[in-house]
Amino acid sequence: MKKKILSAITLMGVLGLAACGEAGEVTQTAEASAPEMDLTGDAGATADTPADTAEAYPEDVQAIVDRGVLRVGVKNAVLGFGYEDPLTGEYSGMEISLAQKLAEELGVDVEYTAVTAATRTELLDSGDIDCVLATFTITDERKESWDFTTPYYTDYVSVLVEDASGITDLAGLKDTTVGVSSGSTSAKSLVSAMIDAGVIEGAEFDPESFDPATWTDGVKFQQYDDYPTISTALSAGEVDAFCVDKSILAIYRTEGRSYIDAKFAPQEYGIATAKGSGLSGVCEKMIEAYLADGTIEALISENSLD
Ligand code: GLU
Repeated sequence: MKKKILSAITLMGVLGLAACGEAGEVTQTAEASAPEMDLTGDAGATADTPADTAEAYPEDVQAIVDRGVLRVGVKNAVLGFGYEDPLTGEYSGMEISLAQKLAEELGVDVEYTAVTAATRTELLDSGDIDCVLATFTITDERKESWDFTTPYYTDYVSVLVEDASGITDLAGLKDTTVGVSSGSTSAKSLVSAMIDAGVIEGAEFDPESFDPATWTDGVKFQQYDDYPTISTALSAGEVDAFCVDKSILAIYRTEGRSYIDAKFAPQEYGIATAKGSGLSGVCEKMIEAYLADGTIEALISENSLD
């Protein structure tokens, strides 16, 4: 792909907290003097313009540049991806670094909005945020509604239980109630894995029309708005197990709790943007460049995600 260096990047300052908004919103500024790579035009386009000629950004991207702030939906309790320090309010993680880099490339500040699996698409659709970097799994169904970049990380789904439950594998989940987040891929992934493992027959299973709220064949689901609530429900015995991506489960794996012996349903995370938006191409170019030059690999290892 074309990777045109317009001018050497001179990041003057260290990223620092500039302002705190309402709960879950933090603005961080980066004093970027020049974009590092040319993010204009179509992703993957071949170079046919002089290297020192800046192309115009698509209209929606120019609007972000004019606004001076890139608004990004991120997770706030997923260690290594999107995590907000409860004491300092500072965000860290691989997805935070990617959001910062995208803002730096555009020469704007970055503003984080903490999102959940259920709210991230609403906020994107309403235009409250420009893009989502929030452990958002790329699926064919979702691609019909939003644009996704090439994946920057692949996780797996797993299940967390209280040791006292005695559940250690998929078979142990037969006839239990499992806590999942609304708007997530988790319930469908678990049912599919239980069918593959021969734990349930799943004659009724249709991935297209699957609904966690009505599924009762061999396992039931309780849906929650956020992960802390599922964790509390697990402690209270309201659910027998907590199912979601392993990266998300990590923070809730406290003493006396374990993962069952199963990881399934690869979850490829991509940056999501409004369908057909100019920002989609900009994000794709950035991810392609960072996959090629080792930046993504470095972020994975810096955040202990490998
Ligand atoms: N990654 C999964 C999904 O996109 C789990 C939900 C989440 O990211 O919170 O559905």
